Amino acid sequence: MNALSARPWLSASRQLCLAMGLLHCTLPAFAAEEAVLNLYSARHYATDEALYENFTRATGIKINRVDADDAGILARLKAEGAASPADVILLVDAARLWKGEIEDLFAPVQSEVLLKAVPEQWRAKLRPEGTRWFGLSTRARLIVYDKQKIKAEEVDSYEKLAEPRHAGRLCTRSGSHPYNLSLFGAMVEHLGAPATEVWLKGLVANMARAPKGGDTDQIKGVASGECGIALANSYYLARLYRSDSAQDKAIVERIGVVFPNQSSWGTHVNIAGGAVARHAKHPENALKFLSYLVSERAQLYFADGNNEWPVVKGLTINNPALKAMGGASFKSEKLPASVIGMNQIKVQQMLDRVGFR
Ligand code: FE
Repeated sequence: MNALSARPWLSASRQLCLAMGLLHCTLPAFAAEEAVLNLYSARHYATDEALYENFTRATGIKINRVDADDAGILARLKAEGAASPADVILLVDAARLWKGEIEDLFAPVQSEVLLKAVPEQWRAKLRPEGTRWFGLSTRARLIVYDKQKIKAEEVDSYEKLAEPRHAGRLCTRSGSHPYNLSLFGAMVEHLGAPATEVWLKGLVANMARAPKGGDTDQIKGVASGECGIALANSYYLARLYRSDSAQDKAIVERIGVVFPNQSSWGTHVNIAGGAVARHAKHPENALKFLSYLVSERAQLYFADGNNEWPVVKGLTINNPALKAMGGASFKSEKLPASVIGMNQIKVQQMLDRVGFR
């Protein structure tokens, strides 16, 4: 029995104080929602500040933000249970959103606005009680290569990264990072599990160094000549393309970028998305915030501010870096984001077997 159900005679706010382990605290009654939103966010992008400020300006709702990575947020929600102050959760990976759903950390949402704005591919399964998470923006997992050593056609598919001719060339962040786990989970759908494991073994055999750092570190590794090929999310590349620094310009000069698998199933695309917390204390504000994030203004801001693509169809984006990289019109895979999550455990076991750290 938890602290909340153990003392039904106490007021809801008093119960919450006790559940949080605070003997002397007072919380306002929940009858009328305060103009506050408690946001747990894994979006690690400085350009998002303006997005949040615009919401507060338009609605008067103040945002209190807790920043952590996807896994940290899910662990925190679990530990806090019913006492969690979180109203909205923003994560940056389809598999982690799926995980939050199956661990019952998100509240089902009934919203025509969100259902209409977010295509079926990019949201949780619609159930009678509602939908538990919504994609808000998309990003592509791209291949970066050293133009001095390699031709684009040698690396124009994920499968080619495992070819023996690329021995000693591949650089990547950890195999267990959500961006890679989701790509590998998608590969299981495209190739089947046995062929995916053979492919992963090939990637390990081709590594230039043990996995370390983030996507930008891999891009820099290619530019320095230490790596021949790397995997990186599109927005990290676009950030470099838009940069005025001489160092970043030199990186862009040296590297080539491909949107893989254009002649087969399309480039792997992941989402950043949002959900209402299971125990949200300000559920109306939470819904207002998610609805704001699918508004035209916010959607275009994902594209202009953080170099992502909107999930809402039919918007004209005008981001020169995405255009320069070839991202104005590319073929993306059509897998439902929820399917990718279901392969996570299988993929992690494969990584352990092939020694992909
Ligand atoms: Fe990222």
